[in-house]
Amino acid sequence: MQHTPVALVTGANQGIGLEIAKALAANGYTVLVGARDPERGEAAARTIAGDARALPLDVTSPPSIAAAAERVRADFGRLDLLVNNAGISHVGAPGRSLAEIITAGRPSVASLDEVRAVYETNVFGVVAVTQAMLPLLRQAPAARIVNVSSNVGSLGLNADPAFPYRQVFSVGYAASKTALNAVTLAFAIELEPEGIKVNAVSPGFTATALNNFEGTETVAEGAREPIRVALETDGPTGTFTGPGGVLAW
Ligand code: NAP
Repeated sequence: MQHTPVALVTGANQGIGLEIAKALAANGYTVLVGARDPERGEAAARTIAGDARALPLDVTSPPSIAAAAERVRADFGRLDLLVNNAGISHVGAPGRSLAEIITAGRPSVASLDEVRAVYETNVFGVVAVTQAMLPLLRQAPAARIVNVSSNVGSLGLNADPAFPYRQVFSVGYAASKTALNAVTLAFAIELEPEGIKVNAVSPGFTATALNNFEGTETVAEGAREPIRVALETDGPTGTFTGPGGVLAW
């Protein structure tokens, strides 16, 4: 069995996930570059210096999740770090502007089909991938799970009239991150006696496809806190942090 730590990053073919995968590889991890499009996963893995291997994985597809877990089991027998990064902000045409995404996501008009699709990836996908990978995480000496959430999902922040992103608290994307936070805490509570750490982390507001590249930070800047949490082997469990430190759930 290999001794270098093994990490899986979902949705790692671009954006923040790719940046996290690069940082993990640079820090000695064997990185599995999860991608729903196998060719884009292979292409992304080739851009990473170090031991990076594409792993086909659509987090909304049970057969794809099962096949990915079986491949990790067969190749490594364990998983040290799972980064649930894959996420979507809408299911409209690519290139929808941020203003259009926000307008379409208002609670009074949001399409329920779209809300369900966003939850399928951002919430149920995380539960499904985590459940499938747990037997492999349990084979690692000190496994960790990092869920890439968002400060726009914080109930504590959105309850504060001074929170600048309050107007984008939607029943789709933003609330899916609220639900992801709940999922994070639920896994953290159950897995704490086993020593498996589970944390949620918010990147900065980063220019990626998710927001039509209208974020204000570069991928390197926005991914800094997720990378810090992903690399932290001696940290706490059950936390929600962002670039400025601890975030309200
Ligand atoms: P991105 O560039 O759009 O990356 C999202 C990744 O998720 C892509 O690789 C995408 O694959 C993948 N993905 C989507 N659905 C998937 C599925 N069903 N199965 C597997 N992979 C899937 O956006 P990003 O900003 O880097 O987003 C990464 C994470 O950061 C997300 O969870 C997002 O919510 C979170 N986040 C981002 C920001 C920000 O400002 N950008 C802020 C807070 C939180 P394809 O390339 O095939 O679409």
